[in-house]
Amino acid sequence: MSARASSNPRPARGSAVRLWDGRVWPCAGRYAGAPVFRYGWAPSGLATVRQLAADRLRPGGQDVAGWLVWGPANRPRWAYLFRRDLAAPKRPMTAAMRAGIERCNAAQQLCPTCGTDVGYRIPRSLGECWDCAAIARGESVESVDQHAAGDSPDPWAAEHQHHHRADAA
Ligand SMILES: [Zn+2]
Repeated sequence: MSARASSNPRPARGSAVRLWDGRVWPCAGRYAGAPVFRYGWAPSGLATVRQLAADRLRPGGQDVAGWLVWGPANRPRWAYLFRRDLAAPKRPMTAAMRAGIERCNAAQQLCPTCGTDVGYRIPRSLGECWDCAAIARGESVESVDQHAAGDSPDPWAAEHQHHHRADAA
C-alpha cells in the first residue's frame, strides 16, 4: 500500500460494524480503528463537524467515531464523523474574544500614515485616512470636505465629514 493510499480512508470491501449503541450497520471497512461509511450510508447519530455546527454543537474532545467517504474511488473525499450524543454545545463568545474583535476594529480606524484614530474604518482601497489620501493625491483637505458637503453617494465622504465635525468640537 502506498503512503498516499494510507493517508486517507477509502471505501473497501463491504463489511459491517457494531455501533456504540449496539446497532449493526453496513460499512466500507475501517480506517484508524473507526468504520468508514459511504456517503448516504452513515448511521443516524453520527454527524460531520459541519452538521454539528449547524446545530450549535462541537465534537467536544471525543474520538473520531467514523469516516464519511464520497467521490470517485481513486480520489475519495472524506470527513470526520462524530457522535451527536457526545457532542458539546458550542462555547459562547467570551469577553476576551469580544475584546479582541474590538481591538481589531479599532486598529482598522488607525491611519498608518498620520497615526491618528480617525473614528471611521479606513477604506481598504485607500490604506490610509481620507485626509492622507487627499494629500497623497495632491488635493487640499478642504477640497475633499467640499465634495463631502454635497449630496455625495459615497458613504465614506459622509463619514469623513462627521469626523471633521468631531475634531472641531
Ligand atoms: Zn491619515
